[in-house]
Amino acid sequence: MRQAAPATAAFVPPRRILMGPGPSDVPQRVLEAMARPTIGHLDPAFQAMMEELKVLLRYAFQTENRLTFPVSGPGSVGMELCLVNLVEPGDEVVVCVNGVFGARMLEIVRRCGGVPVVVQDPWGRAVDVNKVEDALRAHPKARLVTFVHAETSTGAQSDAAALAAVAQRHGALTVMDCVTSLGGTPVLIDAWGIDAAYSGSQKCLSCTPGLAPVTFSERAVERVRARATPVQSWFMDLNLVLGYWGGEGRRTYHHTAPINPLYGLHEALRMLAEEGIEQAWARHRAMHEALKAGLAGLGLQFVVPESERLPQLNAVFVPTGVDDAAVRARLLQEFDLEIGAGLGEYAGKVWRIGLMGHACRRENVEYCLQALQRVLARH
Ligand SMILES: *Cc1c(COP(=O)(O)O)cnc(C)c1O
Repeated sequence: MRQAAPATAAFVPPRRILMGPGPSDVPQRVLEAMARPTIGHLDPAFQAMMEELKVLLRYAFQTENRLTFPVSGPGSVGMELCLVNLVEPGDEVVVCVNGVFGARMLEIVRRCGGVPVVVQDPWGRAVDVNKVEDALRAHPKARLVTFVHAETSTGAQSDAAALAAVAQRHGALTVMDCVTSLGGTPVLIDAWGIDAAYSGSQKCLSCTPGLAPVTFSERAVERVRARATPVQSWFMDLNLVLGYWGGEGRRTYHHTAPINPLYGLHEALRMLAEEGIEQAWARHRAMHEALKAGLAGLGLQFVVPESERLPQLNAVFVPTGVDDAAVRARLLQEFDLEIGAGLGEYAGKVWRIGLMGHACRRENVEYCLQALQRVLARH
């Protein structure tokens, strides 16, 4: 017996305004780029686009690192790729944890056989640089420091420049998560001296999910080359991936690149370059200020102290007596507006309002504030 063909209709998603922790709204230009004809991943025309993509990513990361490219996979794959390549079994690694994503880095470091030295900070706060320095003093053999620049689970921003400086003073390399910061708030890989960083396509870059831009300094590349043990992941082994992304003019098959999403990322990065990265940072800052004023007017309290707040991820406490899930459901059903729920410790207690990339516009700030006001008035 054969299975009967299921009868279905084409999936036509509703139009939403995405003001959560990602994905953010994808501009029509990016969607149109993705609808262009698929060509081969070794086609010379495609390879020329790949080279431009690397140049555009170097601009976004503010780096001259040769090894800068988009990994095929979501931000989590970028995280895993950085760690599986830079952590060898037995390595001491200082892991900063101040939210969900720091805890995820810790889990991966453990799975790589690393020996984590955890620097724990409270949820809603930046990583404490002094505690990191103490950890490095107590563990002089630590080879790596990992931290999340923009902790999307809480809306806290850490001082990446200071963390990188401390790591350098103690001879450790740095791995930085800049999934939510890239394109929304300054990320200065070279000026700060970050050794490896990964991001995601769907947050402030406003492309579709599924690609993870990464960049590695020369020191980080040397560390990977000098490994005593092979990288335990075949797919994420940089030495192999580079046969495709590294070798200008002599590329070989590693895996089939996600052709059309890469067209989308190319277009999204072109839009960032057209706007100018400083202007993009200033826009996120200005829209955050406008949203902050409106949220204060609604009596909503921010989770993070002002000096440690991320402009693009605004976490506020759900007022007492208000049903978190019911409010979010109303916003979605009546206003086609998505805001984020709390994660982990903050589940049910916090809303996360994203102002990321293309969604970070004055009309969205006003729309979100009006929608929240109407829905809260009913509670
Ligand atoms: C979203 C996010 C990730 C994970 O990205 P995915 O694309 O969901 O895998 C990692 N770190 C931070 C800080 C994030 O905000």
